[in-house]
Amino acid sequence: MQLKASWPRFLILAAALVAACDSRPPVTRHQFHAFGTIVTLSFYGADASQSAAALAELRAVYDEVGLDWYPWADGELRSINEAFAVSECTSVQPPLAGLIELSALHEQLSGGRFNAGLGRLSEIWGLQPVPVDRASLPDAAVIGELIDSAPSASALRRDGASWCSDNPHIMIDPGGIAKGVVLTISAGVLGQHGIESGIINIGGDLLVVGTVNGREASIGIRSPGSDTPIAGLDVRPGEAVVTSGNYERFVEIDGRRYTHIFDPRTGYPVDHTVSVTVVDSDPALADAAATALLVGGPGEFEAVAASMGLTYALLIDAQGDARLTPAMAERLHWVDSSGIVEQQ
Ligand code: ADP
Ligand code: MG
Repeated sequence: MQLKASWPRFLILAAALVAACDSRPPVTRHQFHAFGTIVTLSFYGADASQSAAALAELRAVYDEVGLDWYPWADGELRSINEAFAVSECTSVQPPLAGLIELSALHEQLSGGRFNAGLGRLSEIWGLQPVPVDRASLPDAAVIGELIDSAPSASALRRDGASWCSDNPHIMIDPGGIAKGVVLTISAGVLGQHGIESGIINIGGDLLVVGTVNGREASIGIRSPGSDTPIAGLDVRPGEAVVTSGNYERFVEIDGRRYTHIFDPRTGYPVDHTVSVTVVDSDPALADAAATALLVGGPGEFEAVAASMGLTYALLIDAQGDARLTPAMAERLHWVDSSGIVEQQ
């Protein structure tokens, strides 16, 4: 299937659109900022004390993760990266150690398209710690030297809790997988507080816990240009819907936009793909895979989806054309069917 070429380069965000129902259990919604984005928690059928306790715990977890997993905050990951930068060994404790291991696993599964060792690139391109526009591109020789050294999470050596790097270019940046892992942790917190039904939405990356009013949650994939969703799908209990987009964070260099997602093979930001949405019962896989598919682009869509074991994925390229896995094509309902033409 193909989206009409005349469609503008639209932003795609996943938005929870819960189908109307007369006998709805009470819904509690909490919205706040975390991880540089908006978090929306919707709890269905939970009483006030359950909701308050779960909210307090989640906010505490998010604060901790925001400090200790973000390389540019003054927390655990920052000191770990400082040790790697001078080729010193350092102790890495759970859960950060697990996050780095998981990153290395997804690096392997994605054939290196997902790479959580590229924090330096975000700095070189002026995207971190805050995007700063500039007049000229970064020095190609600097990018080349970094890429030639092959920095990545799987290049680290580990002896128990002690982790070592021989490559001073390695800077662990789990930004491409952290939200997925946080979704999994969040579902656990809901379970501990007896909340059986809810949607955790971290800036459009979301996880559905249980059913909503006894039904699958109807999730819209929408263009913020208009509030009308372009497509929708019914999300099963325990499934995550994760989108990576080249529009979320970017810098302008000499009048042109460069996104925050890099091809680890070149060190340059991706420009061939606008967004990727992955649905999976493993939110971390969905997150890493959305990033990897965005890097791979339309030409590598099938290969990367297969190597990462994905069933449901959608990619929109820079021309506005869509690629879908067969199961996603069956599941997705194009809301505005006038915008769709059959390709084959
Ligand atoms: P989003 O921020 O839209 O949720 P991602 O999940 O793709 O998108 O995460 C993007 C972040 O991942 C970047 O800001 C950067 O920190 C990091 N990153 C950039 N390129 C890669 C890559 N090829 N592999 C893994 N992480 C990446
Ligand atoms: Mg990701």
